[in-house]
Amino acid sequence: MRNYKAKMVEPITLPSRERRDAVLEEAGYNAFNVAAEDVYIDLLTDSGTGTMSDAQWAALMRGDESYAGSRSFAHLEEAVSDVMGFPNVVPCHQGRGAENVLYGCLVEEGDVVLNNAHFDTTRAHVANLGGEPVDCPVEGARDPDIAGDFKGDFSLDRARAAVDEVGHENVPVVVLTITNNSTAGQPVSVANTREVAEFAREIGATFVIDACRFAENAEFVRRREAEFADASVADIAREQLSYADALVMSGKKEGLSNVGGFVAVAEEPGGEAAAQLFERAKQRGILYEGFPTYGGMAGRDIEAMAVGLREVVEPPYPEARIDQVATFGDLLSEAGLPVYRPVGGHAVYLDAGDLFPNVAPDEYPGQALVCELYREGGVRGVELGSFAFPGVDRPELVRLALPRRTYAREHLEHVADAGAALLDRRREVRGLEVVSEPPVPELRHFSAELRPVE
Ligand SMILES: *Cc1c(COP(=O)(O)O)cnc(C)c1O
Repeated sequence: MRNYKAKMVEPITLPSRERRDAVLEEAGYNAFNVAAEDVYIDLLTDSGTGTMSDAQWAALMRGDESYAGSRSFAHLEEAVSDVMGFPNVVPCHQGRGAENVLYGCLVEEGDVVLNNAHFDTTRAHVANLGGEPVDCPVEGARDPDIAGDFKGDFSLDRARAAVDEVGHENVPVVVLTITNNSTAGQPVSVANTREVAEFAREIGATFVIDACRFAENAEFVRRREAEFADASVADIAREQLSYADALVMSGKKEGLSNVGGFVAVAEEPGGEAAAQLFERAKQRGILYEGFPTYGGMAGRDIEAMAVGLREVVEPPYPEARIDQVATFGDLLSEAGLPVYRPVGGHAVYLDAGDLFPNVAPDEYPGQALVCELYREGGVRGVELGSFAFPGVDRPELVRLALPRRTYAREHLEHVADAGAALLDRRREVRGLEVVSEPPVPELRHFSAELRPVE
């Protein structure tokens, strides 16, 4: 049951078919290069694109813009402590700022970082610090057709194999990403979280939870993990996060704000590299983000995030959110599109691998699907297959992320109709080749240009 209605609207228009064809060509067949006004339904990301509540808009007006000792920062600390259970907060302008601050304190040249699956910016930060990001998905996680309650879980077998190979002294950090964004938004169980925490302690590593979607994850736990059937999302979230030494958070996800993020550090973080972690993170935060009571955010944005953090665990919001994404998955399935199952927390992922019989695997079938959805319906999604993750063995997924509290069922039906229309001419679709790309391969999908192969 949805417990909100709209009281502000933003006009959107569907450009003509000719215009959409021209836009694709001008954008180098990369949806990141398309102007937002040329997009009708924007499912590029759920990051910072959601709708704030009236309480959040009201909080904006109360922002304390003091450089030092801002009252708004105190409100954020209280919210992080109440909702997530962490007393030490280093504010950052967004999630990747928090990644830079935290991983920069923990990861050195030659280190290995283990993660259930690295999100793209996490992978890029680890690589940029000279570390090696190693994914530890459970069996079947990358198979779009295998059932499973917690396909986002972290595989301890894979992690132990990696530690045997490189030595535990070279693994300073173990990360658990909840929900698992790079694995179709699949949830992680609390049972698995406990095991990963134990494993990190055994090898002397700092245990970090990437908590960007901690409430969506908790809603799945409530539905699927027997131990928590009667617990509230708020209680589950606190319990799951309590096992971590530190958190990385993007407020643009479940801060329900348009910008913001933070690192949070436990009272006594574990791991050999974690001595004085909070102090070190604050110092690094000053260097890259700003003084530790604003961290690259305006006071008003900190206020909005502090309010959003409390709203995100408040029923029935998390339930309505997960239900809407599931409904979207059903609409796309009914339209005949290959939907990754089970549907995850913040997005529906399509498996483009076998969609286009005329597109070779190395001609980016996922990116072709992104382009064709735009051509058919002015819909913008994002490729998370071999274009975004070059050299990583994974399915050719396309993500259609739902901004929070933003689109209605009619919008989602339009996307399903666009999908059905492109299926009718799937044999005509051509693959793509890269024309130019930036120097950091982990970031190429943000700015590379492509063209259809001849
Ligand atoms: C979005 C995201 C980040 C980075 O956050 P930004 O606010 O986009 O910089 C890190 N990890 C995960 C899992 C994310 O989804």
